[in-house]
Amino acid sequence: MVLNMAKIYIDQGHNPVNPNSGAEGNGYREQDLVYEIGVRTAEILRAAGQDVRLSRPTPQTQLGTSNASSLAARVNDANAWGADYFISLHANASEIPTASGSEGYVYRLGTTAQTLAENILTQLEITTGLPNRGVFARPTLYVLRRTKMPATLIELGFITNAYEAALMANEPELFAEGVANGVLAFLGEL
Ligand SMILES: [Zn+2]
Repeated sequence: MVLNMAKIYIDQGHNPVNPNSGAEGNGYREQDLVYEIGVRTAEILRAAGQDVRLSRPTPQTQLGTSNASSLAARVNDANAWGADYFISLHANASEIPTASGSEGYVYRLGTTAQTLAENILTQLEITTGLPNRGVFARPTLYVLRRTKMPATLIELGFITNAYEAALMANEPELFAEGVANGVLAFLGEL
């Protein structure tokens, strides 16, 4: 029996094409990696009895007509739906090819959002084996600033790191399990 059912908004970062397409590295595109991981995260959470909405339900979903309106479309959708929690999935990029691991951003530290992000990072480390780089405040990020519910942006791994890019592309279920297990642990449902 699901005791703590929540409305969980999973935002797969970026668009299939510009405006607001994602980072590229090692032959992969961020928007493709996080699209697939988001779909799989939703499947796991729905199977566990949670109510999930995706910002990009299909591979062709293109949101907004500018960078700003693409971000606004995601936030407005989550706010209008009345999401309890907002999780934006991204892949990190660095000029240092060995940069490694998962990290989370929240509007402010010491919040429910930070607890949610910490649970996700803890579970991601278990399922992917990638280092947990921790949670940081990023009050300038639009999707964290304008969402009305606890929100976190998760950088799943580095697309500029050859191993991590291939892992996200070839083993998306590991990242989906990590995110979903983190949400369920946060809800007390794991
Ligand atoms: Zn991104």
